[in-house]
Amino acid sequence: MPEPIKDLEDQIARWIPPELRARSAYAVPDASGYVKLDAMENPYPLPDSLVSSWLDALRDVPLNRYPDPSARRLKARLREVMDLPQEAGLVLGNGSDELIQLVVMALRGPGRVVLAPEPTFVMYRLSALAVGFEYVGVPLDRRGFDLPLDALLAEVQRHQPAAIFLAHPNNPTGTLYSAEAVCAVVANAPGLVVVDEAYAPFAQASLLPQLLRYPNLLVMRTLSKLGLAGLRLGLLAGRREWLEEIDKLRLPYNVNALTQASADFALGHYATFEEQAARIRADRDALYVELAALGGVEVWPSRANFLLFRVPKGRAGAVDAGLRARGVLVKNLHGASPMLADCLRVTIGTPHENRAFLDALKAVLEEI
Ligand code: PMP
Repeated sequence: MPEPIKDLEDQIARWIPPELRARSAYAVPDASGYVKLDAMENPYPLPDSLVSSWLDALRDVPLNRYPDPSARRLKARLREVMDLPQEAGLVLGNGSDELIQLVVMALRGPGRVVLAPEPTFVMYRLSALAVGFEYVGVPLDRRGFDLPLDALLAEVQRHQPAAIFLAHPNNPTGTLYSAEAVCAVVANAPGLVVVDEAYAPFAQASLLPQLLRYPNLLVMRTLSKLGLAGLRLGLLAGRREWLEEIDKLRLPYNVNALTQASADFALGHYATFEEQAARIRADRDALYVELAALGGVEVWPSRANFLLFRVPKGRAGAVDAGLRARGVLVKNLHGASPMLADCLRVTIGTPHENRAFLDALKAVLEEI
């Protein structure tokens, strides 16, 4: 006999904490049929000239065996390509999302705080709250979304955060804070500072060269924005002592064998991805100029592979719907934070996709 629904509801209410029940699962819209400019993916697939040698590499992967739990070969390749200092520790994740989760799990404790400038990537807050942290968001400067260094340092003093997350460049604003400001935060933080360099290929700036200068600095990277989002591979680098602790919480086979082989193969052709990133940077700057010239649109300079723009007051929902009706999917950020009122974010696509977006936006703006 199936249990009566009432019993099930009571059990859920008894065992699932109210904070979790109040949450929604991470929503990803169905993008089939759309020009997909909502998720900061690289629009270029693996070039045809590389596909058959990639498949050859996969052919040798023994699917009946567990993957190498410490991904030695891939780590060696990453160290070389990313120019990581030999002494640095390195932990890989199933995307950097997983690494954020590992960091907060490692640092959790009663009354502890995770801090980040806001608006920023939502997973810092969601992962921190999920393991019981208090989350403190410090508002960025309202005009240019820069780091309000004095205010931030005052909040760091006040809250003594176990971890600070700095997306560098920041999502969804595209801002690259100055290296001096980021280093000042690291130098004044009582706990870990995770500098999230997901968009480094488009910023051409990194704190990796400073990695071992500070005992509390971790730098996080991902292959997702570079053109390998489907593989789910993130990396966290820093002092070995921290990473050895964090690694204790990693599930043994978190990076699967196909990902290890594919990422190793792809990184052997790193120049291809660097060329794609250069093309995206140039197209980003061109799209910025065109958006800035549109009446009624405010757009912010970006060092990432997307642009944040604001439309006339109260119109973000209509613009989002109008773009969708014309087959273009972007991210509507209105409501995500008071600072993002009337804002949307568009990922840089191919020149053809960027043109489709611009034409659709112009048509929508005329219509509303
Ligand atoms: N960090 C930032 C700043 C991001 O914007 C994103 C993805 N939107 C991630 C991390 C997550 O990347 P991954 O695909 O490696 O989980």
